[in-house]
Amino acid sequence: MDVSAILQQLTAEEKAALCAGKDFWFLQGVPRLGAPSIMVADGPHGLRKQTSSQGFALGDNVPATCFPTASALASTWNRDLLQAVGAALGEEALAEGVGVVLGPGVNIKRSPLGGRNFEYFSEDPYLSSAMAAAFIQGVQGTGVGASIKHFAVNNQETRRMSIDAQVDERALREIYLASFEQAVKSAQPWTVMAAYNKLNGVACCEHRELLTAIVRDEWGYGGLVLSDWGAVDQRAPALAAGLDLAMPGLPGEAGAEIVQAVRQDRLPQASLDQAARRVLTLIAKAAAQPAGPADGGRCDHHNLARQAASEGAVLLKNTGGALPLARQEAVAVIGALARFPRYQGAGSSQVTPSRLDTAYDGMAQRVGEARLRYATGYHPSDETPDPVLLAEAQQAAQGADVAVVFVGLPAAYETEGVDRDHMRLPPSHNALVEAVAQVAHRVVVVLMNGAPVEMPWHGEVQTILEAYLGGQAGGSAVAQLLYGEVNPSGKLAETFPLRLEDHPAHAFFPGGPQTVEYRESIYVGYRYYDAAQTEVLFPFGHGLSYTRFAYSDLRLSAAAIQDAETLTVAITVANCGDRAGQEVVQLYVRDVQTTVFRPMQELRGFAKAQLLPGKAQTVAFPLDRRSFAYYDTELHDWHVESGTFEIRVGASSRDIRATALVEVQGTRPQQPSGTQRGQLAAYYKPTAHGGWPPEAFAALLGRPRPPNAPKQQGRYTLNTPLADMKGSALAWLLRAVIRRQAERAGPVDANGPAARMAQRVADELPLRMLRMGSNGRITPGMLRGLLLMVNGRPLQGLRALLGALRRPSAR
Ligand code: BGC
Repeated sequence: MDVSAILQQLTAEEKAALCAGKDFWFLQGVPRLGAPSIMVADGPHGLRKQTSSQGFALGDNVPATCFPTASALASTWNRDLLQAVGAALGEEALAEGVGVVLGPGVNIKRSPLGGRNFEYFSEDPYLSSAMAAAFIQGVQGTGVGASIKHFAVNNQETRRMSIDAQVDERALREIYLASFEQAVKSAQPWTVMAAYNKLNGVACCEHRELLTAIVRDEWGYGGLVLSDWGAVDQRAPALAAGLDLAMPGLPGEAGAEIVQAVRQDRLPQASLDQAARRVLTLIAKAAAQPAGPADGGRCDHHNLARQAASEGAVLLKNTGGALPLARQEAVAVIGALARFPRYQGAGSSQVTPSRLDTAYDGMAQRVGEARLRYATGYHPSDETPDPVLLAEAQQAAQGADVAVVFVGLPAAYETEGVDRDHMRLPPSHNALVEAVAQVAHRVVVVLMNGAPVEMPWHGEVQTILEAYLGGQAGGSAVAQLLYGEVNPSGKLAETFPLRLEDHPAHAFFPGGPQTVEYRESIYVGYRYYDAAQTEVLFPFGHGLSYTRFAYSDLRLSAAAIQDAETLTVAITVANCGDRAGQEVVQLYVRDVQTTVFRPMQELRGFAKAQLLPGKAQTVAFPLDRRSFAYYDTELHDWHVESGTFEIRVGASSRDIRATALVEVQGTRPQQPSGTQRGQLAAYYKPTAHGGWPPEAFAALLGRPRPPNAPKQQGRYTLNTPLADMKGSALAWLLRAVIRRQAERAGPVDANGPAARMAQRVADELPLRMLRMGSNGRITPGMLRGLLLMVNGRPLQGLRALLGALRRPSAR
């Protein structure tokens, strides 16, 4: 396909049409000039290709390999494995004729309550970006594009389509954008997906600084920027800001608005040409795809999914070597999740698995059912502890050598569109662990959940294995780990706080109704817990093994460097146990003499070493300028302050085994003025609570804090969520209809994720999203009528509505 030649022959209308989808999952092509219409499909841990191209039909997908979700993938800390998973996904996409896979998701886990945390990698941007880069390289190596999402600062589900995230420049650069930055620079995803939310007052889809100045001009991105589904409010300003492709495409939205904007000089012709060129370039890349294997190689991918699940599981605690199990032992297998696993979260990432393993079957295959005593423990959809089931579980535990208790979060807790309200397991699950711990002397807890939970019983059990949402082979992976066929090697990519109240964003999450203030600034995850010296349940980077590793001989390539030079850090790691194993070696850097506020330490390198018993290996880490830098808000650039830095190498953020000092000379002048906003440390140090007080936060933002008041009656816009249109009977009615529609699209379990999501969608949907929700049947003219009506002008509204109904194709 000759993109330039095609572009020359396009009319303005055709160019504008290219800049929106053809329908929900296909792009417009230009058939007359040989540019086909290509398909995009979710998702981050397996292909979700809908069988219908109209609207969202979340459960109606072609079968695909369901890999572990991102929480588990990140816990592998294994770049090669992530690349292999990406490649497998790419192969399945190829076989299904999908040109671009909509993943990975790299939003930072700001709060453990984020409803989509299971879909994201980490609280740490370095790890997140490294995992994303490997995944993207894997996907794209097959000739399929990836889409890094959701750009940017889309860290909560609550009001995700309207919330305005207020973030200071350092937090934005050092935490939230950094999670995208390395992946975009090194892996060049074919597409970047712009988020629903606003960032510092501007919709991400219209955010010129994000979409052009940062991602393209600064990071050198050469691909295409598309919108999250329905995220674009105004097409022409979005296009001018750098958003090339609005998704999905809706009937009657061929781009007349864009053509008009060009004719009226509101949109430069060059912006339209540029966007059309990028869409055609994407189409050309996808059209050049090699043919994939007929079944997409799904057979082998199940084994790969198992490897990812077993490497992503984290052995959190293992007192007295309670694991691994011996094959001759009688095992009480307790908890319905052993037979009916939770293996992924709900929403747009939900894959229809090609197979599904259970832990119970995996265990039975290994030792025979005669050695297992199963007790269900709790009801799947009722959270109240059931004394009969608890007694049954105790009985099973008493008659066995060891009790393995499967607990976790029910599906409704972890779904796109809804944040969690608390960090607890269901009462019935906690009661089960406690009941079993009362009678059994050896209790192993296996957790199935996509995000941290409180564990009030953690001192009463010997072993805790965090299996996360392990994908379709997660069950058999757990069996392998329990019986020691695979040695656990996962490490936490997020902190498990003792209790929700300890979390730095606790008081400011999820904010609303209009804004959410990121008052904890850069102190996200371990950066906060370290600074505030808070005790945690399990720290970032933590994870045990059935063997032991010793660290020795930390060496630096130099005692002093200029910041333009690379420092190489090497350390020897030895396996001193009697089993083969893998160790994730982590490197953190600390600025010892900083004059601006900085975290106590930051992850700047990691490597996974595979070691036979008695063997040692040297791992080396190159540290570049960025490893020592912070983002200077006066220079608007990265800056290294000259001075002493401590290199900290260890097995977790709180298990540092070796340290060394290096002098680094910054090549830029120091800040003389002392007004650097970083010096706000003088105002505040993170201690008992997680955030800057309001005045200091405004100083940190460098502008007044925007008001966060509810909208007044009669002042609603197309972007006002329906639930905020107080007193409007029409808004109430619309919510009821949407709820009904959304419930019908998913399984009808009143407490299930579909129902929870439907409720939230109905409340939080901005009026303009009715266009997408109705698959374009509600036209812009009708929306204008509805808006007049909810704003207390029923007659004018009705007239507009009737007019639009008579001319449905008119805009
Ligand atoms: C989600 C995206 C997803 C898209 C298409 C949106 O609601 O936020 O992550 O890729 O839908 O399904």
